[in-house]
Amino acid sequence: MKTSLKTCFKCDKEKPLSDFYRHSEMADGHLNKCKSCTKRDTKKNRRRRLEYYRAYDRMRGNRQSAEYRARYKDDAPGKAKARHAVSNAIRDGLIARHSCEICGSPRTHGHHDDYLKPLSVRWLCPGHHSQWHAINGEGANGDASAESVLQAAKVQRSQLRAAA
Ligand SMILES: [Zn+2]
Ligand SMILES: [Zn+2]
Ligand SMILES: [Zn+2]
Repeated sequence: MKTSLKTCFKCDKEKPLSDFYRHSEMADGHLNKCKSCTKRDTKKNRRRRLEYYRAYDRMRGNRQSAEYRARYKDDAPGKAKARHAVSNAIRDGLIARHSCEICGSPRTHGHHDDYLKPLSVRWLCPGHHSQWHAINGEGANGDASAESVLQAAKVQRSQLRAAA
């Protein structure tokens, strides 16, 4: 019997299909993220949510809510840098915005499978974008530092320039 293998987009390891949770909306009926990565992410998300709520409770009734909001806005500085890198690359003609790869809608977000590949984006309309995250959770390296994302963007920009 032939075992079909699938590559997890998070850990990049090739594993048998039985190592992926079933999901009816996926083309092959399974998530793109392996079971161990899914478990780890679920744990991480729960922990992050708890921290967030604890901080919120501490700040409640406190007048420093603007400061609190600003703090959480750059909670993931690497992600913000990745988004900036995309708009700069579009501005500079290095990459082009596309229509949604699933439904063809022209209004799209540049989605990152991996924040350390800031200029490798998937174009998805808002609906398919939230669906992607509902199915797959956060993209890889969502906690990357601003500096590492900037560095990765620099490398990708020179690769795109060389290819042009
Ligand atoms: Zn994995
Ligand atoms: Zn779409
Ligand atoms: Zn996304």
